[in-house]
Amino acid sequence: MCEICRRGFIGGAAAIGLAGACGMLSSPLKAQTPPGGTGSTRLPARGEFTITNAYIMTMERDFGDLAGASVHVRDGEIVAVGKAATSGGETIDGTGMIVMPGLVETHWHMWNTIFRSFAGDKPEEGYFPTVARFGQQMTPDDIFQSTRLAAAEAINSGMTYVHSWCHNVRSTAHAEADIRALAQAGIRARHSCGWPQGLPDTQSADQAPIETLAKNWKDYSREGLLTLGMGWRGQFRAGPIKPEVYQPEFDNARKLGLPITVHVASAAHRQAGQIELLYKAKLMGKDVQLIHALAVTPAELDMIEESGASISTSPGSELRIGYGYPLISEILAKRIPIGVSIDTSALTGSSNMFGVLKLARDSENARAESEFKMTARRALELGTIEGARAMGIDDQVGTLRPGKRADLIMISPNALNMAVVTDPAHLVLEATTPENVDMVVVDGRILKRGGKLVAVDTSEVISGARTALAGIRERTKWR
Ligand SMILES: [Zn+2]
Repeated sequence: MCEICRRGFIGGAAAIGLAGACGMLSSPLKAQTPPGGTGSTRLPARGEFTITNAYIMTMERDFGDLAGASVHVRDGEIVAVGKAATSGGETIDGTGMIVMPGLVETHWHMWNTIFRSFAGDKPEEGYFPTVARFGQQMTPDDIFQSTRLAAAEAINSGMTYVHSWCHNVRSTAHAEADIRALAQAGIRARHSCGWPQGLPDTQSADQAPIETLAKNWKDYSREGLLTLGMGWRGQFRAGPIKPEVYQPEFDNARKLGLPITVHVASAAHRQAGQIELLYKAKLMGKDVQLIHALAVTPAELDMIEESGASISTSPGSELRIGYGYPLISEILAKRIPIGVSIDTSALTGSSNMFGVLKLARDSENARAESEFKMTARRALELGTIEGARAMGIDDQVGTLRPGKRADLIMISPNALNMAVVTDPAHLVLEATTPENVDMVVVDGRILKRGGKLVAVDTSEVISGARTALAGIRERTKWR
């Protein structure tokens, strides 16, 4: 551990062993134009700054909350946290503010955000037929506009990491458009490359896009800020999928060394037994993320635990679409890594993660018929360190401590919907809206400041999304 960390972090930092963490400084982001034009951005430089006199929720259990404390950031890394922390660079007054790690989102079809609130009230207007019908009309630019809108909304509302679950890869250019939007936004993300909407369940997904991305990933990755995974259809969509269709997709992801993510056992009363089938076919492991997993028996939870797979739950969409209640308490009791996710704005409308985390807590309390089943702080952990653990990035982000990358947010309670600071964990979980998120920092870059996005032209994002949707309406003769 370097001297500056030891001096900077109050109370026993050495005891938890931060050795080596200070060596994580990365070189500055180089301007680069990789294949597919993941090109120049207007991102601010990583600099050096110190947020002073803030109420800091470190989300480190050994350190807890620190009142009147500072966070010192340099070159994208947290240098020090605490009341006696070192300082340097620009001073940012955090008086009256709450600072915490940025929210970690774990499964989001960002590519269909331009269909926000489009899922209607009749079966033929439901989420799946709507997205399949209009998704097939999307150009790469439509994907770019949609993901750019989602990424801007993510940063605006305090997310610093997203898992872009891209299951409308109609060509390599479509995947590149999704990646380009993430890169330009400056957010930390995984792009999971999937299949095109409308692909028959009898046909394997074209492997050319994912192979192109994997082969050239360092050109897309923005020096590690973006990572690559595979969005897999799994063994079921509308009905069973044959092994000769799904197995080559799974095997190719493993061959490429990519993490795999799959929707499974979504609806609590209709899709039972799917986890057991995955387990028996040896299709789970530490590299596999299971989406939803609501229809799960205690025996299947044991199988998930044994396999090392993680879970993503999205209470906002799961409750909206009628899948049932997530089993968060049961999953946490098994110590299975679990994160919370947005899933899709077509169903959920807004994508405020604080609201989804509140739903996660509330649904646990509702099932238990108890006011006290899940604490507010545990819900915030799901949105920070637990989500980071589920995505395999907890060594980099998810808490505020020296040596981690500087992904953090500052919340201003100076608004009518907050105004008073009572219990900070409850207040943050229950009251925070995007308008309360004053500052957002990703990898040391200040992407939102004073309540305004720094690197995004909001009116351009909105008009681009509207134009893209209008084009799809025209092409589908939908009025
Ligand atoms: Zn999903």
